[in-house]
Amino acid sequence: MTVSQPAAATEAARPKLAFRPLPVPQVDVRGFWGDRVDAVAAKTAGILYDRCVEARMLEQIDPDRPSPGVVIPFHSPSPDEADAQGAEFTGSTVTTQMFWDSDWGKTIETAAYSLYRRRNPDLERKIDAVIDMYEKLQQEDGYLSSWYQRIQPGLRWTNLRDCHELYCAGHLIEGAVAYYQATGKRKLLDIMCRYADHIASMFGPEPGKKKGYCGHEEIELALVKLARATGEKKYMELAKYFIDQRGQQPHYFDEEARARGADPKAYHFKTYEYNQSHKPVREQDKVVGHAVRAMYLYSGMADIATEYGDDTLRVALDRLWDDLMTKSLYVTGGLGPSAHNEGFTSDYDLPNETAYAETCASVGLVFWASRMLGMGPNARYADMMERALYNGSISGLSLDGSLFFYENPLESRGGHHRWKWHRCPCCPPNIGRMVASIGSYFYGLADDALAVHLYGDSTARFEIAGRQVSLVQTSNYPWDGAVAIEVGPEAPVAFTLHLRVPAWCRKAALRVNGKLVDLEAATVDGYAAIRREWRQGDKVELDLEMSMARLFANPQVRQDIGRVALARGPLIYCVEETDNGGGLHRVALPREARLEAHVEPNLLGGVVTLSAIGSRADTESWGADLYRPEPPATKEMKLKAIPYFAWDNRDPGEMLVWLREG
Ligand SMILES: [Zn+2]
Repeated sequence: MTVSQPAAATEAARPKLAFRPLPVPQVDVRGFWGDRVDAVAAKTAGILYDRCVEARMLEQIDPDRPSPGVVIPFHSPSPDEADAQGAEFTGSTVTTQMFWDSDWGKTIETAAYSLYRRRNPDLERKIDAVIDMYEKLQQEDGYLSSWYQRIQPGLRWTNLRDCHELYCAGHLIEGAVAYYQATGKRKLLDIMCRYADHIASMFGPEPGKKKGYCGHEEIELALVKLARATGEKKYMELAKYFIDQRGQQPHYFDEEARARGADPKAYHFKTYEYNQSHKPVREQDKVVGHAVRAMYLYSGMADIATEYGDDTLRVALDRLWDDLMTKSLYVTGGLGPSAHNEGFTSDYDLPNETAYAETCASVGLVFWASRMLGMGPNARYADMMERALYNGSISGLSLDGSLFFYENPLESRGGHHRWKWHRCPCCPPNIGRMVASIGSYFYGLADDALAVHLYGDSTARFEIAGRQVSLVQTSNYPWDGAVAIEVGPEAPVAFTLHLRVPAWCRKAALRVNGKLVDLEAATVDGYAAIRREWRQGDKVELDLEMSMARLFANPQVRQDIGRVALARGPLIYCVEETDNGGGLHRVALPREARLEAHVEPNLLGGVVTLSAIGSRADTESWGADLYRPEPPATKEMKLKAIPYFAWDNRDPGEMLVWLREG
């Protein structure tokens, strides 16, 4: 990647304060993100519920209905048959999945955040009914898993490696925290506290407790959220235990397999790199295995590093971050090239057409990057959070909020399209909950500092040093880089405002109440810091030149050599057949071609497109030969590129990010 990353902060420069995101209701987004949140609130949230019902997920969780498990089964997987896709149980009429509790959890979370945007009594009533089912389902001792209670009873806690048991708990916990914060209703939160207490009674360092952790990370970051929402340190301690214990010897997954009479070596994925338990987390130095699992683990590690001030975790995280950024990340912020392990392969292996680049993985990178910012503002993380947000994540959702990508390739011959639903529906509610909660990614609040990580038309409200402050951003970002920020404290209050100056920006200017600030002197780790006593009506103006850029890949990326990707500001661009005709592999962009930006308010909900004079290898003059000693003739053409996230929202056809240069 050519966009240079500021080096990691030195020990001295990094603020010791923890920066926590503002809760979702404290940030109203308008403009670019406002449109997307509206689409999720108006459409996606309801669609998620409806499609969960259509997939017959209610039948798995509702104790008042016959269990799908008693419908004459013709295949019931043993725990060892379960794999990364999650075991399916197919009865005569019903197919059920072991991770459906997680889909309910994320659906509840999306609904919760959407309710801030617009009240929706019908959706709220439906979610309340789902919560009632979970209340009824929960066992006396607090245990709660629709799979192990209704489909495979008697086997709980026997296969943490494959069966998503704690992962499901984690997503229900996240849903519970969001729903409590959105509606004030405690029922699901209380249910999940009881379940978390049960989990804490089963797992931990004390004698007699299991020394395990989940094969699919998620419970760790969820317990941190639960601890923050309830003020209960015990949940934080449990999250820390799961992180500290991961990969220790004797290996829990070996012992667990033997305990159920299975051969640990018969593991479907062969290596514990698949679920990042191949070594203790502090010794890990390469991003490996299943991409979503990796991102969730690192997110939990970053939370614990922040909460406990644990530098040993921070050092490991910085090493892992470097590895991902320099060897395994798509230019779109997508990651995990292979469908085989839904994850990482070898260094610099970034195929474009077959890129798996699961929507959840890019969403997971946003989670990880945002949590790294808990340790202090640093554009090294925030720039990548922005890249993953604006490109590889939101490509997963159609502009109207109704259709979803699972894979996010960087090249298509015309056959790749968003779908209505998936047998493994993890991505739709993941992108739904991320978009609906986007306001919480904008800021980080510390005791006497506020960091602005993202720009965009919005209003935030927060309390700092005992004073209520509003902060209004007026901007047409990301289409335009002018950002006006009005700070409105109820009474004068001193704090430091950290403003990100993205690495992609070649020219930036900052004014406070009209007075130019020396940006170079004020900037540490890619953030300009302004400390002053803020008064009602204080105005900060940040002008970020929306630079257009040609990006080139490290020459070790075999798939991208001789190719160029186009960017403007945080957005990566692509060309589509509908604008450029077919045969996009024959198109080339000369190195010296002038790029132009065009505001197109009526295209794709309003975007800025890029154009240039390019060329296309001619097939007509070539004739029927397969090979010739001369290159094909070329014809001049006008190339038009649109933001990558917006592709496949018009006529179906080819798409290409990395253009041939020449
Ligand atoms: Zn997914």
